[in-house]
Amino acid sequence: MIDLHLHLDGSLTPADILRLAELSGISLPQQTEDALRPLLEVTPGCRNLVEYLEKFDLPLQVLQSSQTIALSVYFLLRRLKADGLCYAEIRFAPQLHQKCGLSQEQVVSAAVDGLNKGIAEFGMPAQLILCCMRGDSNRDANMETVRVAKAFLRKGVCALDLAGNEYAYPTNTFADIFAYAKELAVPFIIHAGEAAGAESVWQALSLDAKRIGHGVRSIEDPGLVKKLAQLQMPLEMCFTSNLQTKAANEQDYPLCDYLQQGICVTINTDNMTVSGTDLRTEYRLLQKQFGLSADTLEKLCCNAADSAFLTEEQANALKAQISRNFAQWLA
Ligand SMILES: [Zn+2]
Repeated sequence: MIDLHLHLDGSLTPADILRLAELSGISLPQQTEDALRPLLEVTPGCRNLVEYLEKFDLPLQVLQSSQTIALSVYFLLRRLKADGLCYAEIRFAPQLHQKCGLSQEQVVSAAVDGLNKGIAEFGMPAQLILCCMRGDSNRDANMETVRVAKAFLRKGVCALDLAGNEYAYPTNTFADIFAYAKELAVPFIIHAGEAAGAESVWQALSLDAKRIGHGVRSIEDPGLVKKLAQLQMPLEMCFTSNLQTKAANEQDYPLCDYLQQGICVTINTDNMTVSGTDLRTEYRLLQKQFGLSADTLEKLCCNAADSAFLTEEQANALKAQISRNFAQWLA
C-alpha cells in the first residue's frame, strides 16, 4: 500500500481546508465541508487537464504560511495512515507557496517539519518530491527548486518532478532545468504522456527521468512501449485522474497492454480530493475494470516499493509488509 504519485494540494480534505483557512485568516467562499467539496473536486464534466488544475486554486490559497504548509503535510500523513498505507512520496511545487513572501527554502523546511512530525506520530515512512512547474516565465523559480531539492535531499526530500500544463509547455523546453538537476545528482520524475502524447515521454527518457508520471499515452507508440519495458521504467499510473483529464478513456485504458509487455506499472491516486478517490478505491476499480487477480494487484504494489526512492533494504522491508497485509487491505 504505497502511493508514489500524490499531490499535497490536491489531497487535502474539505475539513483540512477549513482548518487551514481559519489559521490563515482567509474567508472561504463556503463554510461547510459539503459546500466546499464541489470547489475542490472535479465533476464528470471535467473536459481536460487545464480544467482539472483549476481545483488547486483554493487549496493553494491556504498554503502560504509555514504553519499551514507544515500542518497540511501532517494532515495528509494522518489520512494515509488511516487508509492503511505503509509508505508514500508526497509532491508539491514550492514556488506556488510564495504569495506571502516565503522563500522556497522556507516552504520546504516547513513541509519537512510537518513530515517529520507525522512520521514520528503515525509511524509511517514518507518522503517529499519537489515539483518544478511548466511555464515560460518561471525558469529562475525552477532552478531554485532544483537547488532547494539538493539542500534537502535525503533530509525529507527524495526527488524532483515537472508538473503543470504539459500540452502548452513541451517537456524538452525544460532540458536545462534537468541538466542542472543531474549535475547536482538530484533524481527526477517527469509528468509525461498525460496531456501530451508519446513524444513527451520520449523527451522525458532522453532527459534521464527515473520514473514517468502517468505515461498513459505511451501506448500511442509501440516502439516507446517496448523501450519502457526494456528500461523497466516505472510508470506512475493514476486511473481515475487519467479518465477525468481525458488523457484516456475506460475502454482503451492501456493497463493490460502495459502488463503484457512487461512494463513496470504502479498504481497511484494523483489527487485524492480533486479526483475524489483513495488508493484502495483505485486498486478495486482496476480489479473490477480489468479483472486483475489479487496476485497481480499485489505485484503492482510491490512494483511501487521497488520504484520508490529508497534503499534496496527499505524496499524489501516494505515488500515484506505488503505480502503480509495486502489481501486484507484490499478486501
Ligand atoms: Zn500528478
